[in-house]
Amino acid sequence: MQPRQILKKYFGYDTFREHQLEVIQKILDGKDAFVLMPTGVGKSICYQIPSIIRQGVGLVVSPLIALMQDQVEALRQNGALAEFLNSSLPHKEVQLVEKRVMSGRADILYVAPERLLSESFQRLLERFPIALFAIDEAHCVSQWGHDFRPEYLKISELTDRFPNVPRIALTATADAVTRRDILMKLKLTHAARFISSFDRANICYRVLLKSKDKRQLHHFIQNEHPGEPGIVYVRTRNRADQIASWLQKQGMAALSYHAGLDPHTRTTRQRRFLQDDGLIIVATIAFGMGIDKSDVRFVAHLDLPASMEAYYQETGRAGRDGQPADAWMVYSLSDVVAMRKLLDQSEGDEAFKRIQRQKLEALLGYCETITCRREALLGYFGEKYPAPCSNCDNCSRTVEAWDGSIAAQKALSCVYRTGQRFGAAYLTDVLTGNPNLRILNMRHDRIKTFGAGKELSREEWRSVFRQLLAAGMLSVNLGKISGYRLTEKSWPVLRGERKVRFRKDPRLTRNEKLNKATAKHKTDFLSDHARLLFEKLRRLRLDISKRLGVPPYVVFHDKTLMEMVTHKPKTREEFLWISGVGEQKAKQFGDAFLKAINEGEGDSSRMDKKE
Ligand code: ADP
Ligand code: ZN
Repeated sequence: MQPRQILKKYFGYDTFREHQLEVIQKILDGKDAFVLMPTGVGKSICYQIPSIIRQGVGLVVSPLIALMQDQVEALRQNGALAEFLNSSLPHKEVQLVEKRVMSGRADILYVAPERLLSESFQRLLERFPIALFAIDEAHCVSQWGHDFRPEYLKISELTDRFPNVPRIALTATADAVTRRDILMKLKLTHAARFISSFDRANICYRVLLKSKDKRQLHHFIQNEHPGEPGIVYVRTRNRADQIASWLQKQGMAALSYHAGLDPHTRTTRQRRFLQDDGLIIVATIAFGMGIDKSDVRFVAHLDLPASMEAYYQETGRAGRDGQPADAWMVYSLSDVVAMRKLLDQSEGDEAFKRIQRQKLEALLGYCETITCRREALLGYFGEKYPAPCSNCDNCSRTVEAWDGSIAAQKALSCVYRTGQRFGAAYLTDVLTGNPNLRILNMRHDRIKTFGAGKELSREEWRSVFRQLLAAGMLSVNLGKISGYRLTEKSWPVLRGERKVRFRKDPRLTRNEKLNKATAKHKTDFLSDHARLLFEKLRRLRLDISKRLGVPPYVVFHDKTLMEMVTHKPKTREEFLWISGVGEQKAKQFGDAFLKAINEGEGDSSRMDKKE
């Protein structure tokens, strides 16, 4: 069968997305490929279809054990012969899987890296034909990436033994350095490269100043995503628990998730998130790797993520179904200080720290940028995006900037003259000429900068210090002495050689107005009747998914339900026209959905006549 026929028969789609067919063709020709595409674009099909077409079993190496079962389940629902092997399977199951694989009753086999490298598996490998090697989450092979897995380094030794089997490495996150590293470590420098735009057009990016974070979060969810699934990221376990129970008290369905919970609780909560329709997970970074839930409507950061890569990956979990979704973040001066400290305290040699520092500055720069967020985000990954995007906070309102050269000089000189040991609150008192006891004791009411900054409010000075720290023109002291100190970047500013522009922080009330202005709901544009039908189909989907023990989106994606609502298929054949409906699913679920779609029809026309 041809790739296009497989796409229709198994997956129910009519056309390939960018690069998919080319990649598939490469692999079918027996060549290697490197695929760098953002999450949700459809990387899996690039190895799934060749695995089905080529003789033998497609071996997929993936570190995401939690995900494997769902992926395999989804493939099976589509009519493909899929299997997986990882440490979660009991020995008996393993034997059954191996048997099916060896007797040719498998198109595709997912394996965890440690299993792949085990001796028993290596022996097994000699006993069945291999269609291809797919190395998923390929950035795990690189120390520069954010999720290094030592076992990944051994993969190329293994694939070396099968020189005629095509290899395909896939990842959604890699900056230029990591990318080169991946290709080298996997010995794929000669491979054809397919790099898609990293733009996730349906995600709206927003960064707000933190004031009362819990209230801000609550306001955001209540106004824009009531009853919808979302992920809230925080930095610590405690905070995850606190925020989750606070949201519960506000009447929202929320659970925490972090590495401090026992494995059983973690698994059940993850399952619930996948299967429920409107659960909020408040999590540390422990959550998310491998969360393949396509209808996550928002990702909120209450604390700064670890890096731009982490931010991109975490926010990338929103809106994988292509429907509008939000990446929302609040941050503050104290976050910047905390991050700076963490960085300087971190272990590692100078070169490592320098890279980390650049990464942090990129992240802070992103928060402070006054131009298009998308442009900044994609720019970090080496992609030039023609701003404005009109789907980020900076594009949907004008952000004012101001010439802060003089203010920066005053602030830096105040840091210097007070001995490089005070934080924003104290420095602001000095600048605005507020003679508190400590200042008098230190005799800092006698220095030149005392009262030299009365033209700005306390809030504005806070903003100045935050932005100076963000830009690396100030850094944070470690150890006993707290407070800020100058950096090499401070001097050109102090000497007047470098101009500084600051972002004018929007006032909170304006942000909240903005929240309302951009509020959108995926079913907003539907008529009442269509919305009712959509909800009905969702309920049907939930029933079916519960019965089968799979997440709802494994049955059908929201997008597919939406198509049913708009096109209202009447027959099996028409049902197959819906994007996302393959033969297997039409057979399995067609009648139930056709019935649900068409049984209301009579009623609604009666109602129409009455009016
Ligand atoms: P990735 O692995 O890149 O994150 P997936 O392979 O999980 O993405 O695909 C994301 C979603 O896009 C899935 O729901 C998949 O069914 C859908 N998809 C993939 N290819 C196509 C296509 N050609 N047409 C329509 N939908 C597609
Ligand atoms: Zn923009």
